[in-house]
Amino acid sequence: MGRSYSSQKAYVDGEALLKTDRKILGVVFSDKSLCTRCGTCIGACDENALVIGKNFYPEINEDLCTSCGICEKVCPGGKVDFRELAEITFGDIACDDSFDGRVLKTFVGFSNDERIRNGGAGGGIITGLLHDLLKRKMVDGCIVTRMNPEKPYYGEVFVARTYEELLESQQSKYIIIPVNAILKEIRNLDGRFAIAALPCQIHGLRLMEKQKDPVMDKIKLIIGLFCASAMEPVVALEMLEMKKINPQDLKTFNFREGAWPGNIIATLKNGQKVKMHYSNFKDGAINYMTQLYSPFRCQTCIDGSSEFSDISISDAWTRDETGKYIFKSQSKILVRTEKGLNAINEAMKNGSITIEDVTRNKDYKTHKLHRKKKGLKAPLRVERLRKKGIQVPEYDRKIEKYSLRENIEERLETFIMTIGHYRLFRYPLYKILISKFGVPMIKIRQYNKRRKYRRR
Ligand SMILES: Cc1cc2nc3c(=O)[nH]c(=O)nc-3n(C[C@H](O)[C@H](O)[C@H](O)COP(=O)(O)OP(=O)(O)OC[C@H]3O[C@@H](n4cnc5c(N)ncnc54)[C@H](O)[C@@H]3O)c2cc1C
Ligand code: SF4
Ligand code: SF4
Ligand code: SF4
Repeated sequence: MGRSYSSQKAYVDGEALLKTDRKILGVVFSDKSLCTRCGTCIGACDENALVIGKNFYPEINEDLCTSCGICEKVCPGGKVDFRELAEITFGDIACDDSFDGRVLKTFVGFSNDERIRNGGAGGGIITGLLHDLLKRKMVDGCIVTRMNPEKPYYGEVFVARTYEELLESQQSKYIIIPVNAILKEIRNLDGRFAIAALPCQIHGLRLMEKQKDPVMDKIKLIIGLFCASAMEPVVALEMLEMKKINPQDLKTFNFREGAWPGNIIATLKNGQKVKMHYSNFKDGAINYMTQLYSPFRCQTCIDGSSEFSDISISDAWTRDETGKYIFKSQSKILVRTEKGLNAINEAMKNGSITIEDVTRNKDYKTHKLHRKKKGLKAPLRVERLRKKGIQVPEYDRKIEKYSLRENIEERLETFIMTIGHYRLFRYPLYKILISKFGVPMIKIRQYNKRRKYRRR
């Protein structure tokens, strides 16, 4: 067994020894740094022995644990077997090792409902699809997330059953939320549900399906989000601190509020809106936030496109030759299963969404950086750390060829992410980046991007 990733200890407490054998429990009880905080073990434990604990890690009540071993079987933290997940999802192990995974059709599109489109992170396609399923009574509820109404700097999972509740769930919360923990409640509810989830959460759902957990019979559609990385839950609190805002005065906190692509905005109880960063979401803070606040498990995660969803949704960042976005306020849609295709076709026929088929559009250039980050550098990092004897997740996927430059970039990024685990470094660094001293960096970044597109 390799050694644990030491810097993770900056976030986690010392673990008390457990009475229960750790080998039959999810990875969080043997090595927290491998835990994605997906919440699957909590949702799968029939005995109510697991709950969401400190920093959103699972915690155990050993008096309730019967040592059944289920939580270990459904845990995607320590090992992701792409072929096994392909078999559960698609019925065969043929795996498309390209970054996008298995895709039947690719679209870009948006919700036809103005409130849903304007409130969405991209084109509001996820919420548009979920709303369509509710309208057609294909599901009774949707498993989604929102910022916690009592503590708006943290996220939470909930079941939306109405249009208004779905609107509450919109926007990307770029933070850890143990979504699958809600399956504990779903177990006791009647009805059919759809879920929007991140890649690691979907890995957990598919492993529950393999265990033939009856709760999975209630999940009728899995909509996946692309994911470069989530951030440590402390990120919003630290941003508030930097801006000298008392968390008690906070009404809402959104990562992408306002006109697309949105800004990080805190709204105070007195109605004042405070922009957390000079630039918009895309050109500004998110670029360094995901470096400084990325959990170790996210840095070693190689599924960036929710390969085992029915439908995967991402932003549509495609630009024209002048650098302008072609699909402003739209989402990119990868349809993976017949079930997913049927949901898309019905939503289109119903007038809920507008989509354009770009399956054969060779010029459709997008996600180059995301692909490089998770399809190339993350696997490279996993291998490099494994060789150093550090405990990393196991994958049945080989690393692609990489250049010297990519190798150096990966090491540099790992260095920044490592120091980011320590408040002593990340706090002052981030404070400078979001101050007026960070503005020239954003201007240079925007200028370089424009030049790059003009050169094409
Ligand atoms: C942590 C994270 C990383 C991402 N990384 C990328 C990326 O690198 N590239 C890219 O193109 N897209 C990424 N996305 C997805 C993108 O930001 C949009 O969420 C996506 O395009 C959907 O937009 P929409 O307008 O269709 O969704 P909306 O209609 O706004 O609906 C958003 C849905 O996402 C769900 N959701 C939001 N946050 C979470 C969360 N933390 N966990 C689980 N579900 C959540 C909500 O419950 C809601 O159902 C990421 C999203 C998250 C949460
Ligand atoms: S009862 Fe089973 S699923 Fe629950 S914590 Fe114990 S071993 Fe895990
Ligand atoms: S199932 Fe998810 S939350 Fe539970 S230990 Fe495994 S990775 Fe962590
Ligand atoms: S990067 Fe991977 S592990 Fe982290 S939240 Fe996204 S899907 Fe989960």
